Amino acid sequence: MEPRFSCTACGKCCHGWLPLTLKDAVTHAGRFPLAMVWTPVRSNARSYELATRLGATVRLPNRKTVAVLIVPTAYLPTSHPCPELRDDGLCGIHEDKPSRCRTMPFYPYREEKDQADLLVPRKGWQCDTSSAAPVVYSGHAILDRTDFDRERADLLEQAPVIQRYAEYMLKYMPWIAGELAKLAAKPTGGNLATSLSSFLTATRRPDAAEIAAAQAPLFRVMAERTKDDPALREYHRNYSGWAKEMEGLARRDSRQSSPPSP
Ligand code: SF4
Ligand code: SF4
Repeated sequence: MEPRFSCTACGKCCHGWLPLTLKDAVTHAGRFPLAMVWTPVRSNARSYELATRLGATVRLPNRKTVAVLIVPTAYLPTSHPCPELRDDGLCGIHEDKPSRCRTMPFYPYREEKDQADLLVPRKGWQCDTSSAAPVVYSGHAILDRTDFDRERADLLEQAPVIQRYAEYMLKYMPWIAGELAKLAAKPTGGNLATSLSSFLTATRRPDAAEIAAAQAPLFRVMAERTKDDPALREYHRNYSGWAKEMEGLARRDSRQSSPPSP
């Protein structure tokens, strides 16, 4: 039977991490608290070759090589809704929502032929996959590929920037390679989150101060929201630390861009 899928706007998938393109991350810097999420992809994985093109190839301390996806991500605990999710379950920025939300349920970090299982709703999701829903995927091909192609094209275009970031981080923070090796060795894989400020510094973005000024209050709010939950200790620590980093970056860059004092 051909897979069918329709979104009923239940809002269930609008919780937790939301992987963004770089373009979307910058556009929505005043909306989502951002982190850079690193995910090793082993050389025997189906999406390995694609991951080497969209991410970075990293030589680990154990001399093995992995591809690593490094994704700007709206960094929210699974239990927390997207800040744009309205009480009625609809998206508050529907017309302007990120590519990731538009391409759902397809995922451009996977080859097009490997998308079928993404059409099976996760536990609790209320996606319509009944015979009343339209066929969206047939013969291992996405039928309306506009959003998928746009997101994939943005990921390919940003890949050189992501690779520069990876080189910078592995040079100045070599412990990251050790962490990636540990994650790659785990049967279930895993992720490492690094700060957006490291990305802004590494890539010397001219709009770094502006982005940092937009991010700092979001981190402050999230630090406050997570402070009493022991299960979210790591989130709380990251939000608090990253808020300070962003405030520093916003101040430093605005001083640098000001004309020198007489
Ligand atoms: S931006 Fe809209 S569609 Fe995307 S996760 Fe948030 S509420 Fe959901
Ligand atoms: S879980 Fe499915 S039905 Fe609910 S908002 Fe997400 S895509 Fe739509």
